[in-house]
Amino acid sequence: MINRHAMLKNIANILNNPFLDYYHQLKKNNTLTKSELEIIQSNKIKKLLEYASKNIPFYKKKFGNKYLQELKDIPTLSKQELKDTGMVAVKPERKLIKKTTSGTTGPAFMFYVDKDFFALELARNLRIFDFAQTEVGEPWVLLVPLRDKKNKFFSYLTRRLVLDAALLSFGRTPLCCPKVLEEQFQPDEKIIKTFFDKIRRHHPKLIYSYPSTLIALGTYIRKWDVKGIIAKKIILSGEVLTIPARKFIEETFQGEVFDLYGTTEFPAIAQECKMHKGLHVFTDSYFIEFAADNEIIVTDLDNYTMPFIRYKTSDLGHLIKEKCSCGSGFPLIGITHGRVSDLIVAPNGQFLRAGFFTSIIEKNKEIKKYQIVQEKQDLLKIYIISNSLSDSRKNFLAKRCREYAGDSIGVSIETAPDIDLPLKQFFQTYPTREIE
Ligand SMILES: [Zn+2]
Repeated sequence: MINRHAMLKNIANILNNPFLDYYHQLKKNNTLTKSELEIIQSNKIKKLLEYASKNIPFYKKKFGNKYLQELKDIPTLSKQELKDTGMVAVKPERKLIKKTTSGTTGPAFMFYVDKDFFALELARNLRIFDFAQTEVGEPWVLLVPLRDKKNKFFSYLTRRLVLDAALLSFGRTPLCCPKVLEEQFQPDEKIIKTFFDKIRRHHPKLIYSYPSTLIALGTYIRKWDVKGIIAKKIILSGEVLTIPARKFIEETFQGEVFDLYGTTEFPAIAQECKMHKGLHVFTDSYFIEFAADNEIIVTDLDNYTMPFIRYKTSDLGHLIKEKCSCGSGFPLIGITHGRVSDLIVAPNGQFLRAGFFTSIIEKNKEIKKYQIVQEKQDLLKIYIISNSLSDSRKNFLAKRCREYAGDSIGVSIETAPDIDLPLKQFFQTYPTREIE
């Protein structure tokens, strides 16, 4: 039996890579109290703001050449602003590693980190194993759309099987990031079988994936009565996790699901612990704020190459005031709305893309708010708020939706008096709260 912990340590030493030191530091932080963590956080904020005001041309200009000490004095940062800015946000003399965002909730753009921060990110990613009660070195599967090349040596050391979820696609439309909205969509069954064979042989203790990817694979597990695709722990990220999706995945893969809130820019912002009462924000790494409309605003406290300061994520969430009984000093948040790339599974097993319905509805300027709920497996209800949408337009929309959804699932459009939601548009593939 190879002692992968010892190997990791040796490799870290040989490569002079600090990721293990960072990991041990983060592990220590897991045991700190809320106020101890707040001290670390406020010191990091001060240091970051001083650095950005003095060294990063983009922020110097944004701060009006002033040294700003308080986050609240700093205007928020949008994705479009960063896309337009490009390299300007970066401190130029550092050796850079380029990354690309997915572009599913806003424009895709490139951003940069340096080698040292890359090591810290690795440590942050190792910490999510702790929260999912899995030892580093136990076999696991990474099943996400791959945007960057994955390090094979790291895969060997951590016993990681990498499967590219983007291959689960129809034509040019990856399962998890559908872009071509008019196309009928079903994944390639041959690839699904290959994935099942590889997962079965790997005996993973943990699978890291997106809800929609595991819903799709789980539907085939049930349809074909596939045996042996089991993982005791499942970390889900990238999309809002709804109650029925969690239940379906837990039952199908026979494991415990841990919701993780992260983005390409910040892979591990908050995560559930074993109590599943909300997501613990890693306040030693991030500062999270909620805007008036509940949009989550993130400041990464450690990225000095391309600082993200008060960055608007387009995701919605809220603070949970109760303390978690696990005793962690990391505060809890809930995520109410995020990336819309979820799937609806019709009773006949066909996948329907959420994005199709949202795009049809959003073309109508008269609709102020809407909510789509799969109330039963064979019924999709679309609630809209609009004073001026004509009946014939409503009928046309319902017809378009039904044409796409097919016979096995009904679609109804109803005008609602109001929807208690902060956004102009809101989409739920499934309810995130139980319907009475
Ligand atoms: Zn907890």
